[in-house]
Amino acid sequence: MDETYFEVKFRCIACGICCVGTQMELLADDIDRITGLGYRLEEFAVFDGSHYRLRNVDGHCYFYEPHRRTCKIYPHRPRGCRLYPLIYDGSGVTVDKTCPTWHTVPRREMARLAPHVVDFVRESGLTRLRVKLSHG
Ligand code: SF4
Ligand code: SF4
Repeated sequence: MDETYFEVKFRCIACGICCVGTQMELLADDIDRITGLGYRLEEFAVFDGSHYRLRNVDGHCYFYEPHRRTCKIYPHRPRGCRLYPLIYDGSGVTVDKTCPTWHTVPRREMARLAPHVVDFVRESGLTRLRVKLSHG
């Protein structure tokens, strides 16, 4: 499935709030795609003991350019960034109210993507194993 399938169709105003202090988990496919661009795993990711997550530098995601409010790898960004503001809050899929336009996410988008948010959570827990197998 094309990665663009996982993008939430709603009114994102590109404020960049979700790229500041990111804790976004990475999937093995995200890591393969981003390392394929020439970035090293250690420069853009941290391992927290159970998950790989995007690394923060100066308080924002390694890939965020605050002066331009853009993502350096936007067409290649991780699955979790595409699914945002849909998140799993520990008991179910919900819309993260930290996003200022969270209320513009249509119900049909929630219904379409909620199963993929659950898959994402499960897969991100297996990332360490998959990274170990493919990156040694
Ligand atoms: S916080 Fe919401 S509106 Fe702002 S860039 Fe992220 S997804 Fe878009
Ligand atoms: S990878 Fe891009 S979209 Fe995702 S948090 Fe970093 S800068 Fe934002």
